[in-house]
Formats: sequence, C-alpha cells, structure tokens
Amino acid sequence: NSFEDQECDYLFKAVMIGDSAVGKSNLLSRFAKDEFRLDSKPTIGVEFAYKNIKVGDKLIKAQIWDTAGQERFRAITGSYYRGALGALLVYDITRRVTFENIKKWLHELREYGNSCMAIVLVGNKSDLTHSREVNEEDGKALAELEDLYFMETSAMENINVEDAFLQLIRKIYETTI
Ligand code: GDP
Ligand code: MG
Repeated sequence: NSFEDQECDYLFKAVMIGDSAVGKSNLLSRFAKDEFRLDSKPTIGVEFAYKNIKVGDKLIKAQIWDTAGQERFRAITGSYYRGALGALLVYDITRRVTFENIKKWLHELREYGNSCMAIVLVGNKSDLTHSREVNEEDGKALAELEDLYFMETSAMENINVEDAFLQLIRKIYETTI
C-alpha cells in the first residue's frame, strides 16, 4: 500500500492565484510532480493536482486548483474559489506590476473566498536575481500588513516550493480543525 493510496483523514481544497505567467502552474507541478517547464502552456495542464501530506498523525489530501489561463482576462469565476480553504497568492519578483496587483487579487479572494481562508503570499522566480524588481522586504511588509504568510520561491531551482505549500496546508489545518 503506497502512501498515495492510504485513506486520508481530511480533504482540503486550495487554489493558485495571481497574474498570468508568474509561475503558478510551475509551482504546482514542481510540488505535485517535481516537474518544471521552461515554456508556458497556459491552457494545457490539469485543473487540479492532489498531494498527500502528513500533519502530526493526520493524513491530509490537498486538492490544489490551478487556472487554465483565465487570470489573463480576470475571468476567474466563483466556482474556482468555492470551498477553497486556502490560497497560494503568487507574484513574480522580476515584474513589479504583478506585485502591485496582489491587492486586487486579495480583494477578489476576500470577496469570493471563504472568510477564514489561509493565504500564503509567494514571490516567485527568486533565481532571477539580476532582473529583480521587488525587494524581499517589500513582500514581507505587504504580508505583515495583510496578515499573510510570506515566502520567496523558485519553481525552476526548487527553492522553498515545498515549504510554501506545506505552510499553507498546515495553516489550513490549524484554522479548520
Ligand atoms: P502561470 O501563468 O502563472 O501559470 O505561469 P507558468 O507556470 O506558466 O510560468 C510562466 C513562465 O515563467 C514559464 O516560462 C516558466 O518557465 C517561467 N517560470 C516559472 N517559475 C519560474 C522560476 O521560478 N524561475 C524562472 N526563472 N522562471 C520561472
Ligand atoms: Mg498557469
């Protein structure tokens, strides 16, 4: 019996959110399958991925939803958020505008999402140090202001990816159970 086949104690839905091309799909594929793609395939890809995680003695199955590129048209619908207990809110540290749009995404999350949703703010592409447009301190400050967890990641170099998702799932567990 593999770990993946065991019966889980809890099933949590979480969503990936943020501007187009910030690396949402690659963060999820890195976490769920340890895969990374150099090219962006916004309309292909799965609707969601599952990952089993142990928190204490409980087995949690996380169902993490990814967009199929609707964020490009700001056309994410209510069903995407429905039932979600957590969100990974992602910007790209090399594009300031994606950081500035975080406030809009937060607004949307708070409008459509569960009121006690656990949110982790993620500054992705930390490997691209030479094209950085958002300081780590800016990310931290925003997270503090909005009461979010914060982490910089690189889906490409597999830095902090697992940590970001585990933090999200632990936070969901703490607020839900
Ligand atoms: P999405 O639209 O938010 O789902 O973004 P994608 O996951 O499709 O990624 C958009 C582009 O950024 C792709 O070309 C990826 O290869 C690239 N990318 C994603 N994550 C990283 C990263 O951590 N570092 C670098 N250098 N590129 C990344
Ligand atoms: Mg995508």
